[in-house]
Amino acid sequence: MQIVQKIRCPNCGSEGERHYLSDSQLTRTQCPRCDYLMISCTRTGKVIEAYAPGIYAQCELSVKSVHSTQLSKASTSYQL
Ligand SMILES: [Zn+2]
Repeated sequence: MQIVQKIRCPNCGSEGERHYLSDSQLTRTQCPRCDYLMISCTRTGKVIEAYAPGIYAQCELSVKSVHSTQLSKASTSYQL
């Protein structure tokens, strides 16, 4: 069973769709205008997959660079 709900896209503000996939307990939010996509677990609320052009992509990049900095610090302390 699948429930479709009309929502406002959090990325560009135009009309998008949210699909409730009760079989797999997933929620899929998508926007046809800006290619926004988010798949999250209905039960835990955890985001499984997310894609959006613009702000969200930049946010993901900054998270990755912070993570790699922490990794290099950790490996330095092991060498000492
Ligand atoms: Zn959008």
